[in-house]
Amino acid sequence: MLNLESLFNFSYGMYIISSKNDGKFNGCIVNTVFQITPEPPMIAVSVNKKNLTNEYIAESKVFVVSVLAEETPLEFIGRFGFRTGRDIDKFERVNCKTGQSGVPIVLDNAVGFIEAEVTDAINVETHTLFIGRITACQTIDESKVPMTYNYYRDVKNGRTPRTAATYIEKKPKAKLEKVDHKMKKYKCLICGYIYDPAVGDTENGITAGTAFEDLPDDWVCPECGAGKDEFEPV
Ligand code: FE
Repeated sequence: MLNLESLFNFSYGMYIISSKNDGKFNGCIVNTVFQITPEPPMIAVSVNKKNLTNEYIAESKVFVVSVLAEETPLEFIGRFGFRTGRDIDKFERVNCKTGQSGVPIVLDNAVGFIEAEVTDAINVETHTLFIGRITACQTIDESKVPMTYNYYRDVKNGRTPRTAATYIEKKPKAKLEKVDHKMKKYKCLICGYIYDPAVGDTENGITAGTAFEDLPDDWVCPECGAGKDEFEPV
């Protein structure tokens, strides 16, 4: 029996992994970071091959892991986790300092950081497992508590993008209904996701034909976890 939901019993953290390439910077959210050996201090991280950050790490062979605190707003996670660096500069208006490898260390909402040089990159289906030797690491704010992946999901009601290493597809409860094409589409102001009532959000139990106004009050953007009040009609 393959009950993938049981994989949520794993414990993870929430991190921004950043890198550089040709004078440009990018970063994305990952939860799959772990230490491999104490001496020399080595870590590993799994990053989707579709993520621009993957390309940057593969090119520059350096990365920084910024450890996010529990109070990190969903909007901040949405910016790094659900937008692409191909469209926006994710570091614009984000408080950073430059690490010794030249990669930005995120200071906003960060508990600490780890800087590493890639020693190995293992091709694993859709993802690359980057193995790195730690070259610097520091706690930035001892008063903050690191956010766990479960805290993000259960307390903050955060969502997981399809590109995440731990993404699990929910089975849609398909139901054919007559669709009213006059119903308006709504756009998420945080991540740009468009709710189309003709399509619904079947992954989260919203059948096609459900008007935005009829979505439950606790419905959130399936891409970034923003609430209904972050949407406006398009
Ligand atoms: Fe969104």
